[in-house]
Amino acid sequence: MFKLPVCPHCNTVYSYKEVKKNTKKKEICCYHCKKSFKNSRKGVAILAIIVILLTALINVFLLNIMTDNFITIIPISVISIAAVIIGMLLIPCFISYKK
Ligand SMILES: [Zn+2]
Repeated sequence: MFKLPVCPHCNTVYSYKEVKKNTKKKEICCYHCKKSFKNSRKGVAILAIIVILLTALINVFLLNIMTDNFITIIPISVISIAAVIIGMLLIPCFISYKK
């Protein structure tokens, strides 16, 4: 978690760009040792849960400190959109490669 995946055969480090490009592939062939391995997206579910929980917590907090519900909608929408963007950017860090 929180680090980019490595090849399970030769420990070659994959760059953010490569991991992102491989996100949708089920099987990946290592560019270094030419062996294939599987893409595990289990960590992405954990990431989604963390992002949703954090966003919900911040929004509940904002609802409590701000009394005018109409104005509260603005920061809540901004935070929710930002959370989705940050979550999507973090996806490659939550992917792991397995034999
Ligand atoms: Zn390899």
